[in-house]
Amino acid sequence: MRAVQLLGPRSIALVDLPPPAPAPDEVMVRIEAAGICGTDRHLFLGEFPSTPPVTLGHEFSGIVVAGDLAPGTRVTCDPNIACGTCDQCRRGRVNLCAHNIAIGIHRNGGFAQFATLPRHRAHILPADLNPLHGAFCEPLACTLHGLDLGAVRPGERVTVLGGGVIGQLAVQLAALAGAEVMLVTRQPSKRAVARTLGATLTATTMAEALTLWPQGADLVLECAGVADTVQTAPLLTRTGGRIVILGVLPKGQTVQIEPFDLLFREISLIHSFLNPFTHARATAMIATGHIVVDPLISRVIPLDQAAQAIATPARPDDIKVIVQP
Ligand SMILES: [Zn+2]
Ligand SMILES: [Zn+2]
Repeated sequence: MRAVQLLGPRSIALVDLPPPAPAPDEVMVRIEAAGICGTDRHLFLGEFPSTPPVTLGHEFSGIVVAGDLAPGTRVTCDPNIACGTCDQCRRGRVNLCAHNIAIGIHRNGGFAQFATLPRHRAHILPADLNPLHGAFCEPLACTLHGLDLGAVRPGERVTVLGGGVIGQLAVQLAALAGAEVMLVTRQPSKRAVARTLGATLTATTMAEALTLWPQGADLVLECAGVADTVQTAPLLTRTGGRIVILGVLPKGQTVQIEPFDLLFREISLIHSFLNPFTHARATAMIATGHIVVDPLISRVIPLDQAAQAIATPARPDDIKVIVQP
């Protein structure tokens, strides 16, 4: 079968591999859709630890062809396999597992014709779902964890920084929770999408956001992964409010934060990592259509264009590029 493998730092290629065989507690799926994520580009650049050679792709769904589920079942993959025995796992903090094995990072993932995954990482999707939608379960599960940590309440104001896929999903979740939502992004097309998904306000810059809501938002969600937005987030936060960082900054990057301001205004600065026990809820929201994903699909590309797409920077107006093997 054909698969897109990371072979080493800055080395990625379409290769021919023998089809995988499912272990007794696994399922094998024919991939229907796999999303390209910023993490895939970090992996390509060697900025994120992985174990090459490995087939990338951790945001995928497919149809069961063999293994521990009925053939023909459509499933989405929760890519994170926690060990279950380390100190963090035993405390229920599976996203902080010291020995986490991520499908598409440490073992072969979804930029391929077929993949295997443990049965317990497969969540069942409806047979009549648009096959492209399954690829959104993983990013939605990560966004759900951030919203859980931010504990948004109806009637609050939420500012979302960044109009990529996480930002657009965060806009929808906050609006569904009854919040008034503003999205901040420089990209006009991303502002337009957010307005159709529940953002009542949009701003081009953080300065503009501050003029729109001078008191700040109860909850600020950093979904851009940019030092400037992390550093400015407290300015956009209401006294007593919360900031949740979902964006990934490069390792080693630092920002300036004023603890005095955070203390005297009792602002919570929270980080959200991965998708602990949120994949089932994400699957349900995609299955019911409560989360709208069609406007988030920027391009659908075949497998033989995936390596090139991962090796080049994202286009400014790209929200999600889906690989359809
Ligand atoms: Zn991802
Ligand atoms: Zn563990």
